[in-house]
Amino acid sequence: MIPATADVPPDTEENREICRKYCTICPTYKANHLEQHEPDVLFCTRGRSSCPDKKEVRCFCLGCELFLKYHLRLAYYCTKGR
Ligand code: SF4
Ligand code: SF4
Repeated sequence: MIPATADVPPDTEENREICRKYCTICPTYKANHLEQHEPDVLFCTRGRSSCPDKKEVRCFCLGCELFLKYHLRLAYYCTKGR
């Protein structure tokens, strides 16, 4: 059964490390140099990046194991927040 609501992944170093495998290599992250702004990873937990004028290119969240584990539904957490 598919849960009706998404959970929020806990903000742990382990989860940040999982996020880095996807976010930091994604075209949107690179195009906007998101490593230079806070939060720099785990946007689905910590909210959108503070980088101004972000351009959306592609999002790799759908491949992330936290996306499945926490029943996330959206994408572009770095630009849209959660
Ligand atoms: S939330 Fe999506 S678009 Fe943003 S950095 Fe992560 S994978 Fe890329
Ligand atoms: S769902 Fe996206 S923002 Fe959240 S940990 Fe995975 S890659 Fe990062």
